[in-house]
Amino acid sequence: MLKVNNIDVFYGNIHALKGVSLEVNEGEIVTLIGANGAGKSTLLKTLSGLLKPKNGEITYQTKQIGGKQAQMIVKSGISHVPEGRRVFANMSVEENLELGAYLRKDREGIKKDLENVFELFPRLYERRKQQSGTLSGGEQQMLAMGRALMAKPKLLLLDEPSMGLAPLIVKQIFEIIKMVNSQGTTVLLVEQNANMALSIANRAYVIETGKIVLSGTAKELQESEKVKEAYLGGV
Ligand code: ATP
Repeated sequence: MLKVNNIDVFYGNIHALKGVSLEVNEGEIVTLIGANGAGKSTLLKTLSGLLKPKNGEITYQTKQIGGKQAQMIVKSGISHVPEGRRVFANMSVEENLELGAYLRKDREGIKKDLENVFELFPRLYERRKQQSGTLSGGEQQMLAMGRALMAKPKLLLLDEPSMGLAPLIVKQIFEIIKMVNSQGTTVLLVEQNANMALSIANRAYVIETGKIVLSGTAKELQESEKVKEAYLGGV
């Protein structure tokens, strides 16, 4: 479904992604794990068109999307839930969700997807009239995910959904990611919380200072000595 082939991404002179290649197959949950500053967010921003690769190819379905406009990429079925959620604080929950569908014209479909989002996140339904800035961190994460789902993506890019959340909330969020995936949305999940990410993923990649250093099934990486030492707290 998505094939990233040997991309390089720079911020000025900073070489943030160095020949990164990876693949996501339809129906999978793939996770990209790595420490702070390894290049995870940079990869997601490049996939969603916020950054341009200097070279290499990004193929989504049969299209080349590397360096294409973000709006065109959303239209083709990729939605990005950014790190730090970035909900519109002064708007209500419902307004934020409606904004997620801004490129769609199918009113009936939008209505149905809004109902589905409220089913996945009953808390958002309870708070639908509330200003989004007053939500808790976990609720804002739910809202950011719900907003991305309103674009009806085939591929959902999630940037550190667990960040700053209590373990119980993280568990809930990960359950919802599994549910979204079982409804047919493919997921690329970026995480520092390797333990949780590997527990729900089919396959995984490890990124260190801009390079993919390991890949395999989630089970293989859970059992890898290197991953255990560096990312699973030496268990
Ligand atoms: P984090 O979890 O901290 O976001 P990350 O793995 O997502 O980590 P990136 O944010 O992708 O890492 O950063 C990769 C590298 O690029 C880091 O060295 C970072 O300092 C650098 N970088 C990121 N954003 C910028 C920017 N806007 N300008 C310059 N350098 C940047």
